[in-house]
Amino acid sequence: MDDCLFCKIVKKEIPAQIVYEDDKIMAFKDINPAAPVHILLIPKKHIPDLTALEPVDAEVIGHLHLVAKQIAEEQGVAESGFRLLNNCKEDGGQVIYHLHFHLIGGRKLTHLC
Ligand code: 5GP
Ligand code: ZN
Repeated sequence: MDDCLFCKIVKKEIPAQIVYEDDKIMAFKDINPAAPVHILLIPKKHIPDLTALEPVDAEVIGHLHLVAKQIAEEQGVAESGFRLLNNCKEDGGQVIYHLHFHLIGGRKLTHLC
């Protein structure tokens, strides 16, 4: 989508610190990290939010989770633990409407909400 920030990162029109990329997904460092490790994982396809997911997207979302595990290992948080989360729409605190998952770790996280 032309006016989507994360689509612009996918198209390399906006720079990002990319830690993983293949034909289906991309992972890059969050610009405002909430913890020592804070990576965003996105499908390259523009899916606005989790409620827009369709059965055809199952494979890419499964793949994204396997890459999240790989990134957690590379970032040194697979042993200590981490959080993988999606903020969905207004009440979920979503700001960027291109589906993304936050991989957050490197410190003890407080309980949700
Ligand atoms: P949301 O609240 O939508 O789940 O999270 C959006 C995330 O995108 C935030 O953690 C924010 O810091 C991050 N973000 C916003 N703009 C940019 C940007 O231009 N580059 C990068 N790398 N992250 C961004
Ligand atoms: Zn997009």
